[in-house]
Order: sequence, then structure tokens, then C-alpha cells
Amino acid sequence: MSNSSTPASARLVPEVGLGSVDVVRARLARELPPGALITDRTRLRTYECDGLLLYRVTPALVVLAQDADMIQRAVRACSDARVPFVARGSGTGLSGGALPHADGVLIVTSQLRTIREISPDDQRAVVDPGVINLQVSEATRPGGYYFAPDPSSQQICSVGGNVAENSGGAHCLKYGFTTTHVTSVNMVTPQGDSITLGTRAPDAPGYDLLGTFVGSEGTLGVATEITVRLTRSPESVQTLLAGFRSTDDAGAATSAIIGAGIVPAAIEMMDALAIEAAEAAVACGYPDGAGAVLVVELDGPREEVEHEFAQVQQMCQEHGSFEIRVAADDEDRAAIWRGRKSAFAAVGRISPDYIVQDGVIPRTALAAVLREMNELAERRGVRVANVFHAGDGNLHPLVLFDESIPGQGDTAEEVSGAIIDLCLEHGGSITGEHGVGSDKAHHMPKMFTADDLDTMQLVRCAFDPAGIANPGKIYPTPRLCGERPGKRTEPHPAQLAGQAEVF
Ligand SMILES: Cc1cc2nc3c(=O)[nH]c(=O)nc-3n(C[C@H](O)[C@H](O)[C@H](O)COP(=O)(O)OP(=O)(O)OC[C@H]3O[C@@H](n4cnc5c(N)ncnc54)[C@H](O)[C@@H]3O)c2cc1C
Repeated sequence: MSNSSTPASARLVPEVGLGSVDVVRARLARELPPGALITDRTRLRTYECDGLLLYRVTPALVVLAQDADMIQRAVRACSDARVPFVARGSGTGLSGGALPHADGVLIVTSQLRTIREISPDDQRAVVDPGVINLQVSEATRPGGYYFAPDPSSQQICSVGGNVAENSGGAHCLKYGFTTTHVTSVNMVTPQGDSITLGTRAPDAPGYDLLGTFVGSEGTLGVATEITVRLTRSPESVQTLLAGFRSTDDAGAATSAIIGAGIVPAAIEMMDALAIEAAEAAVACGYPDGAGAVLVVELDGPREEVEHEFAQVQQMCQEHGSFEIRVAADDEDRAAIWRGRKSAFAAVGRISPDYIVQDGVIPRTALAAVLREMNELAERRGVRVANVFHAGDGNLHPLVLFDESIPGQGDTAEEVSGAIIDLCLEHGGSITGEHGVGSDKAHHMPKMFTADDLDTMQLVRCAFDPAGIANPGKIYPTPRLCGERPGKRTEPHPAQLAGQAEVF
């Protein structure tokens, strides 16, 4: 896909030609065991949002799937009745990807938590979609392996959600995002067929449909079983915490480390406000007076790690670090990570409300973007805390505000949107790891041309011609056309050619 500064002119996401969810409710009441179907209004409200609390929609029906067959039955019923469905794992997504459809079915996979196979010989594990990310590592670590993608939500998010979001995490700088660690997915297509994408072996011939599925945010079907690649636990791990006077110094140290050809397992940065929040929440004891800290972790063969770790310490000092703490053991390492891992939630200690943004920029633009972001926030009278994956330029600015102050929520929203514009101006993207979901669909035309978006829709329509899989996500919808680029008024050529029912 090419980027273009030309704004997309006229795009319309499939608005589902709705059938009646009553038909699906009656059918699934016959086909599913008691307890698998939630119809009670109060219980349905439990599922009205994901980790992004801003949007809330009560689903018409929830299926608590207990096996892959139930997922297939639910999707078939939706397909036959032309009713939309949305897959949900643990509901920790931060872009409203698992936001239900008011007239649709929410298919919840959180009860599917069996690790079906662990095979150290070919470094594979086969898991249900609802298995919690961290459980894969816990189950495989005794054999000397772990599952490398580690979102900060890894204690609660599901592998199915990771696949759908192509999730990242602190260690993805060296090990790559989820897509690098998935070799095969069994899925139910939006027509209700059960198919397998990819193979257990690497590099299947033909189009990379598995790669297309990973990161498709539940718009191409529901994953029912996932084969993941296991990574050998490293011989040695070294972690340090470096305090700097400013984010500029910390950014310069980051560039120097990467520029020297060292690929750390992680380089994470927190600015003064994020440190303040973490101290308030977990008393992590980061260096006093730091304007920024870096957490740098190296792993690999012992000799290599020791050699590079000495270089990293030197480079931190050369770029103004006034205090460096090296973790002596696993306990120390956990203490260093505690502040970083708790930072999102910790911000609640210093601000009643906040928006987590997720943009990515070329790492070389880090210092400029942070400076411009702070100027922007200052001009608009809100504060922005920064805690992010500095090594790969994945930013997570937290825009702080107080909903009880009239207008401040709107200002925070504007600043959050302006931060995305800033990322794009500097050659970045509207999302680094958290997906587009409901939240960022209106930003898509800023990044992609009309033709780009049409091409993506064609791929989507090849899987889901009726447009019932997680509609209203990723692509800008008519709902937003008042505020954003307009909608298509004539039928799309793909519709006229009979390639898609809606487009
Ligand atoms: C405190 C916190 C920290 C976080 N840190 C990170 C981080 O460091 N890196 C990162 O990348 N993300 C992070 N996230 C975001 C989130 O945890 C990830 O996106 C995660 O992968 C979502 O998993 P989930 O099971 O909660 O998915 P859900 O929120 O339930 O769903 C997410 C999307 O996946 C789809 N989906 C879910 N299951 C399936 C399935 N079986 N088949 C098809 N589609 C499916 C849904 O339709 C939806 O579009 C964080 C979130 C929180 C709350």
C-alpha cells in the first residue's frame, strides 16, 4: 500500500444489510448447551466495551463458546441470517476492536483456555484462542522455551486477541511482533466454514493468507486454534535502568545504542510524568530528579551479552545518564520492570482521566516528536505522560485530563488526534500495536489513499462478501462522514462485477 498526502475522497464501509438477530437467538438456543448463550440484558452489559471505555454498545446476544464447534455454529447462524458478529478474547484491546454490534452477536473465546500441545522438538505450541499470553510462556519455560510477544497486558490478554491485533510488546524490538511467532491458524470464515491458514512448517507456498489474517482485527473470521513458534530461553539476560535529565538525552542514548549495531531485547523510555505516576502507584524507586529513564535489556549468549552490556552502559554515560542501576538478579530485574509495566494503570494516580494514544514514528524522529507533542499539550492546557518502546519508535502518549472540568475531555481528544497527525507528519503511522478498531477508523484516510482503502476492502470482501465480520471497524464509516472525508454515493465496481455484495 502506498502512502499519499492526497486525502481519500469517498469511501464507504459495508453497512450490513441486517437480518434479524431474533432468528439467530432462536436457532442458537436450540443448538447450544444451556449457559453458552447470554440473553439477559444486565449480563449482556458486561460485554459492552473493551479496554477503551470511551465507546459502549450492548450486544444483542453473547455466545460464551466452550469449543470450536460452538464458534462455528454461532458464525453459521449469523451467516445464514445475515447478522453481524464480533469476536472477543479477553477484552483488553485499546482501540475498540471488540466493541459489540447492537444488533449482532458477540462471540467470546475466554473459556477456550486449553494448551493442546507443547512440542519442544520443533519449537511449537498449539493453543486455544482464549489462552492467556503469559500462560504459554509459563507452560513452556520449564522446557527452556517461551512465547516471545509480550504485550504489557500479557497477564490477561488472549493469544487470539494477540493474533487479531498483531500485538507487540517491550521485547518485540528484537523478536518481532505476533505475526513472526504464528505459523498456523484454524479459523471459522464468515460463511461458517472451518479452514486452516499456514502450516506447522515455515513458509507455505501461495499467497500469505496467514499473514493477512494476523492483524485483521476480527474482520476476516474467528481464530479457533493457533500454532505458535516457541523461542529458546536465552542463556543470559542483563537489565539496567538509566536516569537522564531529559528525554532528548535518553533519546540520543537510544539512537547511539541501536546505531552501534546492538539489538537489545528491549529499550523502554518513561518521561518525568510517567515516572511520577509509577512512583505514586508502585514506589518503584527510580532515580531522583530524572527527566527520563531508560530500561535496557540485553539477552543472548553470555559472552556477547556481557560485551554489549558494557558498551550500553558506556553509551548511556556518554549521553548524560547521571545514574545507572544494573539488575543483580531476577528480583532486581522485576523491580526495574515494575515501574514500566504498571505505568498505564499508574497514571490513574495522578489524573482522574486519560486517553492512551498509540502511534509509531521512525526512531530518529523521537526527540523532535516528543518536543512538539509537549508544546502542543502545553498550548492546549493538558498534560501528556510518555511511556513507550523507544527502540522501535512505538509511542504510547497518555493524555491526562479531568472529565469534571467542562471541555477538558474534548480538548484531550483533540490533542490525542493531533498527536496522530504529528506521527504522520514525521513519517509514522496511526497505530503501532493497538490496532485501528472503532477508535482510529477516521484516521485511515489520512494515511491511505482511496485506492489503498479500496484494495484493502477487496481483500476483506474475498473473505467476507456479506460484511458481517466485525463491521464498522478499521474503515471509516458513514457515521463519521459529517466530520471526515465523504462517502461513496454510487455502487463500487466490485459490487457491479458481483465480487462483493456490499463494499
Ligand atoms: C494495560 C494494557 C497494556 C497493553 N499493552 C499492550 C502492549 O504492550 N502491546 C500491545 O500490542 N497491546 C497492548 N495492549 C492492548 C491489548 O492488550 C492487545 O491488543 C491484546 O492483543 C488484545 O487481546 P484480547 O484478548 O484482550 O483481545 P480483545 O480486546 O478481546 O479483542 C481485540 C481484537 O481482536 C479480535 N479478536 C479477539 N479474539 C479473536 C479471535 N479468536 N479471532 C479473531 N479475532 C479475534 C476482536 O474482534 C478485536 O478486534 C494493552 C492493553 C492494556 C489494557
